[in-house]
Amino acid sequence: MNILIFGPNGSGKGTQGASVQKKFNIAHIESGVIFRENIKNGTELGMKAKDYMDRGDLVPDDITIPMILNRLGQIDCADGWLLDGFPRNLEQAAALNQALGKAGMSLDFVIEIVLDRETAKSRIMGRRLCSNDNNHPNNIFIDAIKPGAKDGKMVCRVCGGELSVRSDDQDEEAIGKRHDIYYNPVSGTLAAVDYFKKLAGKKSLKFIELDGAPGVKEVTEQLMAGL
Ligand code: AMP
Repeated sequence: MNILIFGPNGSGKGTQGASVQKKFNIAHIESGVIFRENIKNGTELGMKAKDYMDRGDLVPDDITIPMILNRLGQIDCADGWLLDGFPRNLEQAAALNQALGKAGMSLDFVIEIVLDRETAKSRIMGRRLCSNDNNHPNNIFIDAIKPGAKDGKMVCRVCGGELSVRSDDQDEEAIGKRHDIYYNPVSGTLAAVDYFKKLAGKKSLKFIELDGAPGVKEVTEQLMAGL
């Protein structure tokens, strides 16, 4: 089972992706997580990516495309994968489709979480990351997933783990840039979504469009009904 998931930053894509990953027990490949791990480990790739990420720019395609195609070829992806955060523009969409064709791999589902830009922005600024699992949902602006409290400190509502903020989540300019890329229907991520939507008409590929405005549980229900 090979799946792509799209949604603007702040749409709950990571959370929904985690439930898809659980349902099918496939590898969950998140381009942003791979970059952040490389930064944490001080790798050459991480050093190359950091400035772009801090500014909210895309890491150049000549770094990102081979990194992801190589990742999909690894052993844990043999039984399927859920790809999140890639493709983010039209070039990456075409490169992925071409690489899948070459490798004889098919795409089974493409999921799009639709959410307006203002709502997505406030969700990003309220989000807090759990040190134990970055898919534990915590957001100071959303009642259903407000963090817990321990000894006067905010902690993860799921596991009580420590919470942190992503530096690029508090920078309005960087968020604006990330959303400019996502909501660009000509060459940005919405163009990549459209690329796969058109393919879904021709191939045995199912396109699932979800309304991202309701709470996490409701979106998961819509998603599970479509899969
Ligand atoms: P994310 O965690 O998906 O919000 O990604 C964080 C940052 O990693 C992005 O703002 C980009 O700088 C970089 N990044 C993640 N995925 C890609 C991609 N497909 N192409 C280029 N840059 C990416």
